[in-house]
Amino acid sequence: MTIESVCIYCGSSVHVAPAYKQIAHNVGTALARHNLRMIFGGGSIGLMGITADAALAAGGEVIGIIPEHIRSHEIQHTGLTELVVVDSMHIRKSLMAERSDAFVALPGGFGTIEELFEILTWKQIGLHTKPILIYNASGFWDPMLELIDHVITTNFAPQNNRRIFTVVTTPEEMIDAIKTISTESFSPEDKWK
Ligand code: AMP
Repeated sequence: MTIESVCIYCGSSVHVAPAYKQIAHNVGTALARHNLRMIFGGGSIGLMGITADAALAAGGEVIGIIPEHIRSHEIQHTGLTELVVVDSMHIRKSLMAERSDAFVALPGGFGTIEELFEILTWKQIGLHTKPILIYNASGFWDPMLELIDHVITTNFAPQNNRRIFTVVTTPEEMIDAIKTISTESFSPEDKWK
């Protein structure tokens, strides 16, 4: 499967360390340079806005999907290739998933974690086979990766779920993984055997 569109899940907070902002900038630039369309939540704030701005500045296409009721809070991005306004957070997530060929979770907060785990659980039960990348910059996601490992070690998730996502730490690794990952199917039978 050729990957053309990549969904970026990331934080909307503006109060994070400059190192995280730099990571978002580098990721946005890398997507555009490799002709990968960015799909995201459509806001202009935090790492969301920084990633989108960097992708646009490097000549990339960026599509935002934002719910009507948070347009003003997340300050909808006004310079996108396309901004889709939807009725709810649920529709936002399903449309982001539908329009993307792969998913990358950058550092983020509760919303980012929620989006990442939803797409992981959909893959776990065979609803899609698209690549999911966890961008573990500066060890940001180490505690979450440890928790996931604990969940698998204690058999609350199947052993094969160790392969359900890929951890990357640089834009180069991210691009390489997006271009080379072979998609593996997971199934309800694996989860509930
Ligand atoms: P955060 O990581 O909390 O800064 O949130 C990142 C993005 O996830 C923001 O655009 C939030 O609006 C979005 N978000 C938070 N919760 C949800 C949800 N339940 N469904 C869809 N998007 C969400």
